[in-house]
Amino acid sequence: MTTRRILITGLRLTPLFLTFKEPYHWAGRVDHGSPVVLVEVETDAGITGIGESVASLAAEGTVAALRCVEPLFVGQPIHDVARLTHEARHLGSFNHLPWYADFVLSGVEMALWDAIGKAAGQPVYRLLGGAVRDEVDYFGFVQGDTTDELVAHARELAVAGYGVIYLKVGRGDEADLANTAAVREAIGGRRLRVDPNCAWSVPDAIRMIHALEPFGIDWVEQPTTLLSVTAMRQVREAVHVPIAADQAVLTPADVYDFVRERACDAICLSPHEAGGLLAFKKAAAIAEVAGVPICLHGQSVSGITDAAQHHLGLSTPNLTDGNQIMHQLLVEDLVSSPDLTPRQGKLGLVDGPGLGVELDRDAVARAADRYQKGDFS
Ligand SMILES: [Mg+2]
Repeated sequence: MTTRRILITGLRLTPLFLTFKEPYHWAGRVDHGSPVVLVEVETDAGITGIGESVASLAAEGTVAALRCVEPLFVGQPIHDVARLTHEARHLGSFNHLPWYADFVLSGVEMALWDAIGKAAGQPVYRLLGGAVRDEVDYFGFVQGDTTDELVAHARELAVAGYGVIYLKVGRGDEADLANTAAVREAIGGRRLRVDPNCAWSVPDAIRMIHALEPFGIDWVEQPTTLLSVTAMRQVREAVHVPIAADQAVLTPADVYDFVRERACDAICLSPHEAGGLLAFKKAAAIAEVAGVPICLHGQSVSGITDAAQHHLGLSTPNLTDGNQIMHQLLVEDLVSSPDLTPRQGKLGLVDGPGLGVELDRDAVARAADRYQKGDFS
C-alpha cells in the first residue's frame, strides 16, 4: 500500500459576526456577539478542512495576517502540521507577538486536523492519541444581567443536570456578593465556579474571595491581571478557595511558568490560545506532569471550535469537569450537525471524520452578511 501526500491548494477565509441570543454580561463589559474568521483549507484531493480563528475587533486584521502566511501553506502537505505552524509562527513580527500569532494561526491548524481526519476517515480525537473517556463534562454557563435573571437561568441549568454552574463576577462587590448568594441558593449543592476575568487587584481578590468563600466556591478563575504570575500566586497562597488560571496562561511556556511557580490549581486553555490542537496537547502534558488539570476554555466561538475542543477533551488525560462551551449562547450556530448540546452536562463521542461537523451554509452566509454590514448589535 502506498500513501500519497495531500497538498494544500489555498485558504478560503470568511469574516463572520456571531450574534448572542442575549447581551453577555461579564467583568466590565457587555458583548452582543463576536467576530470570528471561518478558515477553510482547500486541497488537491478535493478535501476541505474546516477551522475557525478568533478575531479581534476587526476580523479583516486576522484575514490579512492569514493572507501573509498563506504562501507558506500552499503546495505543502496537510500532514506537516508541526513544521508549517512552526514556520508560520516565526514569520515577520509573529515571532515577537506569539499570542496574536496563535490566535490568527489556530484556525488554519484546526482546519488541517479536520482535513487529516477526513483523509484518514477518522475522528480527530483518534489522531490525538485516542479517547481516554467516552464523554466530556461541560459547565452550565449562567446568563443574565440582574440577580433575578441570573437566578432563573441558574435554576434552569441545575434542573437540566449540569453539575458545575459557572457565574461571571467582577461586576462590583455588592452585585458579586448578591448574585453569588442568590445563585448558590438556586442551585442547591451543585458546584459553583466564579470568574472575575482579571477584574481584581491582589488585595481586592483576597478580600473578595474570603467574602465569597461561605457560598462554597469550587474555584475562582483568573482573579487578577493576566500579566503577572506572581499576583496569582500571592492570591492563591492567601486564600483557601482553589484558583484557576485563564487569561494569564495561553502557551505551553505559560503553563510551564504557572505550574513551576505553583500559581494555580487548574488551567483553562483553548487551542486558540495555545497555538493549535497540537500545542494544546503539549501544554496539557506539561500541566499533567505537575498534577494540574486542564479545563477547556470558552471564547465566544461557534460549534466549530467547540467540536475541536471536544476532541481535545476526549483525548486529554488531565481534564477537569465543568469544561467550557459557548455555541449555545448564539442566535444560530454555524454547525448543523452533530448536535453539540450536552445532556445532563455531558457530550459523548463525535465520530464523524475530522472534526465531524457539517456546516450550516445558510447560517454561515447570514453571519458573513452581518459582518459585512457591520451589524454588530
Ligand atoms: Mg475565564
